[in-house]
Amino acid sequence: MKEITQSLRLSPSEIPHRIYGLENWAAGYFGVSDQGCLTVHPTRNPLLGVEVVSLINTLQKRGVAAPFLLRFPQILDTQIKEFHEAFRHSIAEYGYGARHRGVFPMKVNQKRSVVERLMSAGHRYEYGLEVGTKAELAAALTLQIHANALLICNGVKDRRYLEWAIKAAKIGKNPVIVMEEASDLKKIAEVATALQAKPTLGIRVRIFSRGAGKWEESGGETSKFGLNTIQLLDCLKSAHATQMARQIKMLHFHIGSQITDIRRIKSAIKEAARVYAKVCKMGYPVEYLNVGGGLGVDYDGSRTASDCSVNYSIQEYANDIVYTIDEICESENVPPPTIVTESGRAVAAHHATFITNVIRRLNPGLGGPEVDLAKIDSEVVLEMTDLHKDINQKNFREYYHDALQHREELQSLFNLGYLNLENRAHGEWLFWEICRKAIKFSHLLKERPEEFSDLENILASKYICNFSVFQSTPDAWALDQLFPIVPVARLTEEPTERATLCDITCDSDGQIDKFIDLRDVKQALELHSGIADSYYLAVPLVGAYQEALGMNHNLLGSVNEAHFLVDDAGKPHLDKVVRGQNLGQVLSSAGYDAPGLKEGFQRMVTAAESLGRLTAEEGASLTELYQSTIESYTYLED
Ligand SMILES: *Cc1c(COP(=O)(O)O)cnc(C)c1O
Repeated sequence: MKEITQSLRLSPSEIPHRIYGLENWAAGYFGVSDQGCLTVHPTRNPLLGVEVVSLINTLQKRGVAAPFLLRFPQILDTQIKEFHEAFRHSIAEYGYGARHRGVFPMKVNQKRSVVERLMSAGHRYEYGLEVGTKAELAAALTLQIHANALLICNGVKDRRYLEWAIKAAKIGKNPVIVMEEASDLKKIAEVATALQAKPTLGIRVRIFSRGAGKWEESGGETSKFGLNTIQLLDCLKSAHATQMARQIKMLHFHIGSQITDIRRIKSAIKEAARVYAKVCKMGYPVEYLNVGGGLGVDYDGSRTASDCSVNYSIQEYANDIVYTIDEICESENVPPPTIVTESGRAVAAHHATFITNVIRRLNPGLGGPEVDLAKIDSEVVLEMTDLHKDINQKNFREYYHDALQHREELQSLFNLGYLNLENRAHGEWLFWEICRKAIKFSHLLKERPEEFSDLENILASKYICNFSVFQSTPDAWALDQLFPIVPVARLTEEPTERATLCDITCDSDGQIDKFIDLRDVKQALELHSGIADSYYLAVPLVGAYQEALGMNHNLLGSVNEAHFLVDDAGKPHLDKVVRGQNLGQVLSSAGYDAPGLKEGFQRMVTAAESLGRLTAEEGASLTELYQSTIESYTYLED
């Protein structure tokens, strides 16, 4: 027995990887310092890493409180480079006869600093943008992008959207309006005629190959977007009839986000390339084949086709796309198209890491046996005292089952009025202590019965963390998406607690109780005890979708945000701080504008003064206090 437990012991350097899976999801951007602290390497240089704790200290010195979002703009640069170089490499390798053009889909992260950084990092690749709403389009019209970059406007939406999508050409953009519905061509024809313009058009085509997993619904036959084969032919015919056929330059396919299995991508690309080839052969001068998004991120680090992972690399993704299109174009004898990609998640996810501080730890049954034992007279409780004393490796299953039964008896006795609170309290305490002992013994078994792993999950501590799941990791709530979660320090110290995380909303859904694991999904995360002086948790890979979807549930607003750059000597520089919303700002989104709040409070004070409840001085100081409260952070402060 001793030997088994010995060999299960992890060496300090194994802890961050075996317990938190760090090296599996780090993608070269995260590591562990000699001091056991989480490090970030924005350029993927293992020697140029910064400790997250030191960044937290910098922020605290500046009076910027947790929770915060740390942004590493250089990670965006690194991802943009990797992504585009992968396509360049495949194009060279297969001698592909056309180019690759990337665009960033704004819905993945519309934050100006993010989009601007992406556009400047992507300038030498002629990186462009994809928009799907008027607001995204309005922002895109103001952004500096390469003169050759594409501006893909998805859908026809309404007249105003369409007008701007067409007029974008006047200010030097290269808009492509992608039709999503059979009726779109007619709407475009009307507006374009009125504006005397000949916009470049694309057609979103629905394909049969589906994505898989949580995000699959956006592709496939039943998707809400795209033209089926009949509609495609109709659309081409009417374009021909209205002299618009030469404007149709793009075919667009998007099978969904986070496609976990490379085979799905291959089969979708095959189908798409065939459609392209057939349309070319009908004489339509299509130039661009847009393969949409879907390139996934390995959130759990398992490199498998499970929901939160991917079984392929960016290079394999590029290879499969380029190779498949090349092969099909060759066999169909049509010119190879410019390959357009709209990857968002894979480009943006790594650059942002969310940080929260643990506020306290709750544990079922904790509290201690501080009862007056003289007052314990219940037979059942006395029997439980014996179980607690005598439980051992041989009898623990039997004793645990006895304890379960005793606990039920206690409950009935109490309900019938036969048990006082002291007996009840002591009985509860004994029960949880017996459970704890039984779990310890169960770990020594070679094959642990399931009831004890379930029990262990029930007994997991709850770590209350200063954040809102709905604001900062909405997909953990909406889609049960898993993100890696890791303490920012003590990573080489064996964790002694198993915990789930609870946020500070008053919503029982405001918690995280599923965690990444190499083989499975963990119901509790191993964490350290002794959290009294600042214990911070990092949630990496939140740069895609989370900010855009985050919501002010319970009026917990956006979090403080800090941008860090790392110089050539490996030193961090705080580039920018963006304050999270204060109370006044979130309240104004609910209709309580700041001046109105102040006036409303002033009225209450005046009324109280006139009733003699407050002196004028007390009133003035209350008003002042209220004002500073309105300007404070929505999250818990010290
Ligand atoms: C959402 C979306 C994307 C982005 O997909 P990712 O999986 O994040 O790369 C690309 N294109 C279209 C049309 C989309 O709707």
